[in-house]
Amino acid sequence: MLDIATLAELLAKPQKIVITTHHKPDGDAMGSSLGLYNYLIQQGHHAKVITPTDYPDNISWMPGNDDVIIYTENLEQSAQLIADADIIFCLDFNALSRINNMGILVGESAAKKVMIDHHLEPADFDDYRYWDINACATAQLVYKFIVKELNNKQLVNKDVATCLYTGIMTDSASFSLPNTTAEVHRIVADLIDAGAQSYQIHQLVFNNSSESRLRFLGMCLSEKLEVLEEYNTALITVSKQDLEKYNVVTGDTEGIVNYALSITGIRLAAFIVERSDMVKLSLRSRGEFPANDICKKYFNGGGHRNAAGGMSNSSLEEVVNQFKLILPEYKKLLIQ
Ligand code: 5GP
Ligand code: MN
Repeated sequence: MLDIATLAELLAKPQKIVITTHHKPDGDAMGSSLGLYNYLIQQGHHAKVITPTDYPDNISWMPGNDDVIIYTENLEQSAQLIADADIIFCLDFNALSRINNMGILVGESAAKKVMIDHHLEPADFDDYRYWDINACATAQLVYKFIVKELNNKQLVNKDVATCLYTGIMTDSASFSLPNTTAEVHRIVADLIDAGAQSYQIHQLVFNNSSESRLRFLGMCLSEKLEVLEEYNTALITVSKQDLEKYNVVTGDTEGIVNYALSITGIRLAAFIVERSDMVKLSLRSRGEFPANDICKKYFNGGGHRNAAGGMSNSSLEEVVNQFKLILPEYKKLLIQ
């Protein structure tokens, strides 16, 4: 294990650095990664962000985005950078399985691994860990890492601030989740002082839908939403054919589960989608209900208590049936 003084000393000289984040990066994954990237390049480091997969257009505009390498599209270059790195920052995930095949390369690299993350139950692959499950976003932790651990607030420039603001805004559901504390609002105020344009960022992330995405959402709500009143549960089920019919692209399904959760009295919401190689589940819950418990126990996944995900190799119909059959086990928690 490294201590912060040793890590700070390492970072005082230019290093070869890879920053990576989880499969199908979201706003916090990209915001925290590019926030750290924009910080590191000011200090002369040779830094590269490598994502395990592609990511949606509405988070593809942040400063530094043009320099991001997508692993699946640049296998050899990515492998070389990972093998040659002095330091690999692992942001917004805490188990190498979350970065697919890249996990093997990162595991084999002699680089020092730094985990900055806010998910439960971290695996043991890192040399330095900045980890707090109470953080609303990894971007919040990157801010604290730069400002409190490395004492470099003056390097939080407009580019860093824009990326970190985006991460916090998206992971806190626009500052609405219970973990959006006063401290988070103070950090966000600092980021605005440093140049983050809140109005513009909201526009770029949330008011940037294709027409087909909006029609797809309409179809999900009018035709695919099922409410199981007995269990205060709502689910939306989408097949491969539905995805094809509406030309659904990466990111288009993001957030749809929240509409199901917005129904009065609903404590558990699921979005179940048939992808080309598996069925993916996104679960959201209210209050104490442990959505991650269901994902961990039954769907090879995990996550936070109120936002979790998992997958299955069974058919869509089987997964939906399995999900419904699990509910009686949780009935007490769902109806209290
Ligand atoms: P989403 O529903 O947006 O895909 O995922 C919500 C949250 O669940 C993510 O922030 C992540 O923490 C977690 N999650 C999603 N899929 C998986 C998975 O396959 N494994 C684990 N461990 N966590 C997941
Ligand atoms: Mn996050």
